Amino acid sequence: MLQSEIGEKLLSLFCLICLVLITVKSLFTYPLVDYILFALLFLLFSSLALVFISLFRKNSNLKEERDARLKLQENLDELKKKLSAIESENNKLISEKSNLIAEKARLEAKFSEFQSEIHRLESEKNELSNEIESLQKLNEEILIESDKFRNASLHDPLTNLCNRAFLVEKLDFLLQLCRNNPRAKFYVLFMDLKDFKKINDYYGHTVGDKVLRLVARRIMRVVSLEDTVVRIGGDEFGVIISDILSVEKVREIALKIHESLTQYPFRIRQGHKIQTKLHIGFAAYSPDHHTPEDILRDADIAMHEARETGAPVVFFDSDLRERFLREAQIERGLNVALEENQFLLFYQPIVSLKSKEIVGFEVLLRWRHPSGFISPAEFIPIAEKTGLIIPMTNWILAESCSQLVRWQEKGLVKKNVTVSVNLSAMHFALETLPDEVAEILNKTGLNPSNLRLEITETSAMESPESSASVLNRLKQTGVLLAIDDFGTGYSSLSQLYHLPFDNIKIDRAFIVTDAEDTERFQILRAIIGLGKSLKMSLTAEGIEQDLQFLTLLSLGCDYGQGYLIAKPMPKEEVEAFMLRSGGILEFLPSAETVSLPTTIL
Ligand code: C2E
Ligand code: MG
Ligand code: MG
Repeated sequence: MLQSEIGEKLLSLFCLICLVLITVKSLFTYPLVDYILFALLFLLFSSLALVFISLFRKNSNLKEERDARLKLQENLDELKKKLSAIESENNKLISEKSNLIAEKARLEAKFSEFQSEIHRLESEKNELSNEIESLQKLNEEILIESDKFRNASLHDPLTNLCNRAFLVEKLDFLLQLCRNNPRAKFYVLFMDLKDFKKINDYYGHTVGDKVLRLVARRIMRVVSLEDTVVRIGGDEFGVIISDILSVEKVREIALKIHESLTQYPFRIRQGHKIQTKLHIGFAAYSPDHHTPEDILRDADIAMHEARETGAPVVFFDSDLRERFLREAQIERGLNVALEENQFLLFYQPIVSLKSKEIVGFEVLLRWRHPSGFISPAEFIPIAEKTGLIIPMTNWILAESCSQLVRWQEKGLVKKNVTVSVNLSAMHFALETLPDEVAEILNKTGLNPSNLRLEITETSAMESPESSASVLNRLKQTGVLLAIDDFGTGYSSLSQLYHLPFDNIKIDRAFIVTDAEDTERFQILRAIIGLGKSLKMSLTAEGIEQDLQFLTLLSLGCDYGQGYLIAKPMPKEEVEAFMLRSGGILEFLPSAETVSLPTTIL
């Protein structure tokens, strides 16, 4: 730099000298001046060349410097950018930090708040644990007392077995267990002693209690220790077998219990032996059982089935379940059937075998259930069980009596034609029945001699003494009485003699179907002979063939009904039938037209 400045000054000086010399030369002509001028010019040009070289160098240096500076500037800019990014990052961090500091301060405040809360709670806890301790002591005392009470409330003091309350608790527990564990299983056995009341009545309650204790002991001896024996109440006992045994294995246990209680009599006093009878029903857990009552009900149903069929032990299987469900469905349906007029009456003509004249009609109930006709054989026993048969029969009586009055008024039937209404055993046992019948006759205006009440032999013979009293009261009202399904109830001649029946209806089972069936023929002959000697008329049921009609006629049977004569019909069909036949059924066989086989004759 210094060199170039000196060079520049020297060059200017040379230029000046050159200018002076040129001027001098132009004014004066001296050769020396030329020489000097020439030398000076030479020097001038060389200096100029040097200056140019230095200028060129300087220029290129400057360029490099400028480039370097530009690069530096770029780097600087970049650095500035980075710096500003760092600064903004820094600012962000600073603000975050200050937020964190504020949060920390807040949490610290909360923490100290919590700590003071914990302190407060701890002191409260200490107070409470003191209180709990004293309450626990009190509770233990109460538990000891209630355990004493509970043991008493879950045990039967007479037999020392568990009682019904315990049974319900245990069943509740087992039901819960089975719900949670599909492999779990248990059985309930239900039994009640037959005619135990008679033991109490005959020997007194002390002996009765002793028998119950002995029964409990015998059951305990048969079952295993894990099983629970319960006195459900009175003479009812139950056993819970909570094991995954097969039905057959449980049946074996039940049969052993049955054997132990029925095979060996109980020795009560010297020379006094008491023989107990019972039937056992049992049920296995199924997911349909929601409450203890559900499974107890099934075992109870099985027990009743055992009682009805006379079997020692019955299991509540799918058949029984279906029957039970069907019965329950029928029972529900029966409740609405009367109100919704689903019942209708069919009338089956009864004819005099000799004159072929219609002498009466048996009234047969029909149930037109929304799902189709249901047979009376199926629904009548259920109506009897539920007691619904009573309002139903009252309706049948009123309806059929007024129907006969209408037919009499229309001139369709003769004055002596009867309607026969079936009465069920439970209705027959009602003290009020004779009054009810009298009232119906009164209301409908039917002559009592036009009404015949049919009572099955079995129900009449259940208790012949009380039957005699009801029948006599009925007889006083003026109605006719028939003993239905005769031959199926083993009535003795002396019993029959004392009952005021005027008609015997011979059960279908005794109507000869085969000419070779001489045995049945002899029974039929005996029944007809019996009726005649008791001065009762005879009606044969279920006549389907000419042979039967003629056999009965030849044996002296008075009346008959059956498909050969006419099927049961609704009232409209009866009217048409009566109009068509005029009340005399000429199409029936006559002894003259059809001859009987020699075996019968
Ligand atoms: P039941 O009183 O012995 O009635 C006679 C039954 O025999 C009727 O059956 C009748 O339709 C049927 N029958 C009549 N002729 C013949 C025949 O030639 N062949 C065959 N195979 N059967 C014949 P239904 O109507 O099914 O009644 C069955 C039982 O239901 C009756 O037997 C009776 O015990 C009872 N029942 C019907 N209606 C009533 C009623 O209103 N009240 C009561 N308590 N029971 C009734
Ligand atoms: Mg009948
Ligand atoms: Mg009958």
